This record gives sequence, structure tokens and C-alpha cells, in this order.
Amino acid sequence: MAKQNKESRCSFCGSGKQDTLMLIEGLDAYICDKCVAQANQLLVQELGSKKGKALDPSITLLKPQEIKAHIDQYVIGQDDAKKVLSVAVYNHYKRLSQKVDKGDEIEIEKSNIMLVGETGTGKTLLAKTIAKILHVPFCICDATVLTEAGYVGEDVESILTRLLQAADYDVASAERGIVYIDEVDKVARKSDNPSITRDVSGEGVQQALLKILEGTVVNVPPQGGRKHPDQKMIPVNTNNILFICGGAFDGIERKIANRLRTQAVGYKVKKDDDELDLKNLYKYITPQDLKSFGLIPELIGRVPVLTHLNPLDKQALRNILTEPKNSLLRQYVKLFEYENVKLVFEDEVLDFIVDKAMEYKLGARGLRSICEAIMLDAMFEVPSDASVQELSITLDYAVEKFEKADFKKLKAA
Ligand code: ADP
Repeated sequence: MAKQNKESRCSFCGSGKQDTLMLIEGLDAYICDKCVAQANQLLVQELGSKKGKALDPSITLLKPQEIKAHIDQYVIGQDDAKKVLSVAVYNHYKRLSQKVDKGDEIEIEKSNIMLVGETGTGKTLLAKTIAKILHVPFCICDATVLTEAGYVGEDVESILTRLLQAADYDVASAERGIVYIDEVDKVARKSDNPSITRDVSGEGVQQALLKILEGTVVNVPPQGGRKHPDQKMIPVNTNNILFICGGAFDGIERKIANRLRTQAVGYKVKKDDDELDLKNLYKYITPQDLKSFGLIPELIGRVPVLTHLNPLDKQALRNILTEPKNSLLRQYVKLFEYENVKLVFEDEVLDFIVDKAMEYKLGARGLRSICEAIMLDAMFEVPSDASVQELSITLDYAVEKFEKADFKKLKAA
């Protein structure tokens, strides 16, 4: 083995010991940390493009109804969105396993999906749940951090960097992955009037997204962020990547209402003889509304499947508390099980939590903070008290703890 001393140098790049973080010795040579990292990157690229070209045949293709049944275990309600997603994902799989048959000229095209619904109604949860059953790489990214290339912010290609990371830099596997782009409504065109200043975080991003959504070979910076000339790029073909876009599109109800020639608040004017559900105008959404909101038609065209999520009512919130496989209450029960304590919630407590979530307009996300406020003291004290074997959360207890947490501040905010 080579003996390390002050004069030892990396046998690959020649850096001296003092210029490196670490110098690893081999039999007759040394290698520095930078060369190890570079070699690793090369390896990943080389193997990545050779590995896993075909879809693993051992993965059985779940039918749309089975996919939906699986999502049902985790997501409450939102049947329309579930159905659309199940079909889209099934077809995505079909596409991936489609044999390239020369005689067969019908090529199934991918259909990216747009989920529209208020914040906290389960858009991300839907995407995440689907990814879990699919055995394909999946990543979530936020459209708000993106800007047009050359401006401060992340380039659009960084979306694919995340996917590559999720796929462990296995390019072939990333090329059949699913990407969830959150908050696409935030890249809407800022105003209808073309202005002299460029809209680099709005329309600029939409333009940049076009080519990625459609299917093309994109050079992706392996470490993300902004591209710079010395960086080695990994080419990724986005042809088979399924994109799910989600957004709250705040204020789009007014546009839908205008189109339906009704007002969001007030009386129904008349639309044939249909009864309009004014509380949930999202369900009448069409691509035209997305356009009036500020998405460019080319982008809308590349996300052809449009579906909505319903606002959550009291019953839905109550179900969210108890029904999903990993529902909030089940999580607390499990936590206390580790302490050998049996935890039970009285029914009225559930109603109380839901009422407060509705009152403070916190939606499903608020359920967790309310539960935390109620459970904090118990979670603090019980582990040190061996005498407790059963804990029942009563309404009085819940009200007391909730009031102590002073949620009123939230209401004022
Ligand atoms: P969005 O992406 O629409 O803003 P999320 O999917 O992030 O909302 O939802 C936030 C949290 O609220 C989720 O982690 C989940 O716990 C809960 N939640 C929201 N909607 C549902 C639903 N339909 N079923 C079950 N849980 C839900």
C-alpha cells in the first residue's frame, strides 16, 4: 500500500494532499475526493443509460378501478379527480409497455393532467398516493421558484433534476417517471397587456415548460439550480414522463361564473335549465377558464386532461380525521401504543376539531395543528408517567387545551 505523506498527490488529477478534503490510498496510487465524485457521476450516467430500458414485466398492471380503490384508502372524496387520474395513469402504463411494433402505427400519446382545486383539498396527496403504487420515480416541484433561463431563480430544467435524483440518477427509469408541478397557477401571465418588461416568472416560465411537457430531449444539470457552461449535462427524454400540474387558481370561480353568465354571489341568472352548484363552481371549469386566468393556450393544449377537486365540507373533514389508512387519529393512537397506552377520542372531540377547522377556515391542513394543540400536553407528560395505561380525550379536555393554544391569533391573521 502507498504510504501517505505531505508530498502525496492524487494520481488522477495531481492535486496535493493540502488541496483536497480527503486523499484515499490505493495499492500504488491515491485518489482525491473530487475525482471520486466525478468518477461516480460518470458511472451513474453510463450505467443509467444502459440499465432498465424496458418496463419491469414483474410489475402487474393495475386496472383503473383497482388504482382508484387503492387511492380510496388514503384520499377522501374527490371521486372525479380519482377517476380521471386512475385512467390517465393506467394509460400511461399502457403506453410504457406498448411494444414498438413496426406494423402498428397507432402510437398512444401521453396525456398530462391538470388538477384544479382550493388549497388543502388533496391535490398533492392524490399525486403522492398514486406514485406509491406505481413503482416509477416521482417528484414534486413548485412552479413558484422557476424563472426563465438567465434570470435569478431556478431554470425549468431543475424539475427534471429532481426526478433524476428520485430515480437515483437512473436516466432510463427517470424517463418514465411522474412529475407533480405544484402551484402552476402562480406562473399565470401577469396581465393581459403585453408590457415592455419581460414577464420572466410568469409567461417566460410557461414558454419554457412547453418543450418539457411535450416530449423532447432536455439537457439537465445533475445538481440543479441554474445552468452554467462548465457543468456536465445529462440528456433526458421527456417523451414518456407524465406531468401532473396542480393549482388553486384563486379567483378563477369569478371567471367561470362570468362565463356561465352568473355571479359568484347572488342569484342564478339562467343557464338552460340546469341547476348550478354555486358553492362549487370549480366543477364547471373548462380550458377556456384557464386561458382567461392567464395560462397560454399552448400550455393548456399540452395538459389536455383537466379535472377539479371539490371543496371539503364538514363531513369530508371528519372522514379525513378517521378514515384514511394513515389518518391523523390513527397516527396518534399508534404514537401512544409505543408507550403502551391505549388512546381513545370521544366522538364529540372529533366534531369539535372539525368545527374549529371550519371556523378558522384552516381546511384539512388545519386539522393537524388543532390536534397537535390538543395532544401536546399529553404527549409531553405521558411518556414519563408509567401509571397511565389508558387515555381518553374528552370534549372538556380538548376545549381546555385548544383554548390554551390561543388559536384566536390565527383568526386575526
Ligand atoms: P393541496 O395540494 O391541494 O394544497 P394537500 O394534498 O397538500 O393539499 O393536502 C394537505 C393535507 O390535508 C394532506 O396532507 C392531507 O393530510 C389532508 N387532506 C387534504 N385533502 C384530503 C382528502 N381528500 N383526503 C384525505 N386527506 C386530505
